[in-house]
Amino acid sequence: MSKKINKIKVKDICITYAPFDYPKEPVLSQNSNLPIFITPTYSYPIISSMAATLLKNSGYGVSFFDGVAENISTIKWLDFIKESKPDLIFLEPSTFNITYYFDIVNSIKARYSEIIIVFGGEHVSALPNESFEKSKIDYVISGGDYDLILLNLVNYLNAKEKLGKGVYRLVSNNIKFSGDYQDDMFLDNMPYIDRDLTNWKLYSSKNLAFKRARGAYISISRGCFHNKCTFCRSSNMYQRYRIRSPHNVFKEIDILNKRYNINEVIDSSLTLPTDEWLNLFCQMMIESKLNKKVLINCNMRIENPDDGIYKLMKNAGFRTIYFGIESVKQNTLDNIKKDIAVNDIIINCYKASKAGLLPYVTFTIGYPWETEDDIRDTISLAKMLLQKGYACAIQPVFAIPYPGTDLFQYCQKEDLFITEEWFRYNMLEPIIKTSIDTAKMNKYISDFYNLMLHPKYILHRILSIRDLDDIKYYIKLLKTIYCVRNFIK
Ligand code: SF4
Repeated sequence: MSKKINKIKVKDICITYAPFDYPKEPVLSQNSNLPIFITPTYSYPIISSMAATLLKNSGYGVSFFDGVAENISTIKWLDFIKESKPDLIFLEPSTFNITYYFDIVNSIKARYSEIIIVFGGEHVSALPNESFEKSKIDYVISGGDYDLILLNLVNYLNAKEKLGKGVYRLVSNNIKFSGDYQDDMFLDNMPYIDRDLTNWKLYSSKNLAFKRARGAYISISRGCFHNKCTFCRSSNMYQRYRIRSPHNVFKEIDILNKRYNINEVIDSSLTLPTDEWLNLFCQMMIESKLNKKVLINCNMRIENPDDGIYKLMKNAGFRTIYFGIESVKQNTLDNIKKDIAVNDIIINCYKASKAGLLPYVTFTIGYPWETEDDIRDTISLAKMLLQKGYACAIQPVFAIPYPGTDLFQYCQKEDLFITEEWFRYNMLEPIIKTSIDTAKMNKYISDFYNLMLHPKYILHRILSIRDLDDIKYYIKLLKTIYCVRNFIK
């Protein structure tokens, strides 16, 4: 088998996402869990974009085609595959659409058996064997560095390199794993992503997360320095936390601004580095005056940073800070190994908002041990944060036990799955059995959203308006809240 593979020539590679016919818009390729938005919001698939860049820089023909963001039908997408006839297709399925991707793989293989198809991403890293059992997939890449592993795999298929770690394949009908990947690549050694090749504009103007029209995604780090939360896939994807240097990140933002006139970025990493890294990066943004040209949004873990850091971040151009708070119940925060205290939540949101930043807070309901009183307490905290102006917006989600997480294992052991139909793992309904029925759960989600239609909250937002972009942003946000509420009802 391996001798035969070594003769294969892989010249043209297609990195693609198949469109998914669904009444709402799936948001693929986020580093984190996957919400589905009712209004189109396409998150830039950053690791796949890096994969395309690495392959192109190595001399391969690369097409990057996101059928979801292109908003095309499955037939048109299949036509594209037929016309381009690549040697290898790379796909990154999510949990909720994995079954659909099995059909896609089988359908491509039925027509073009010679095309090599490779899966990567969070779901297949957790359950690699499933893909071989349910589809005619050729290779499955495991771990978060699937850009680097894909490059190695393509080089291997062209007999340029030995097969490295992190790859599952069939050898004589048995699934063989090349071993755990060591994610020790120094991130500053990676190139900057080729934005033209990966159609950055598709993810810019239609994106609810950007205030300004010319936004782009970047990734400052891989993994998480905490790496413990039981609902998070970080530890399944990354063994360690790696950060690009402040200068490397600063330079990329500068290039994006100069070359593409990009005036806002989102760091899609799991969590922003703090302490010295953050200080140094902020200083660079301020001294170069790039802070006057580019806004920065990021995910950040609630820690206890020194008092001045939020002010410094605001001066450096930071705008929205995404905090994952999950619950106001200390036993929940302890159970999910969040390692924060309830007071930290309030203090950090207060300090960040006072500094002029916009804390955007995610709350989670549907943990098996939480009661209705617990959920109501969390809603009360959300209300306080919104009405005092300590949070600019909130996003309530159901706890989803994704494969690869400790929460998944816990639910498996305790027989707590409502369903194992992957399609339903889309954050739009509870998946974990609790004492609260689904209708009530949906009502609680609605109650969270209703908080953002309260006059006190709206007044706060009106008072925070500074320019036309703010007005446009809040109109988009209110429209989304209205649509989501109607959808959940
Ligand atoms: S803080 Fe927790 S939820 Fe956030 S990325 Fe790290 S491990 Fe995941």
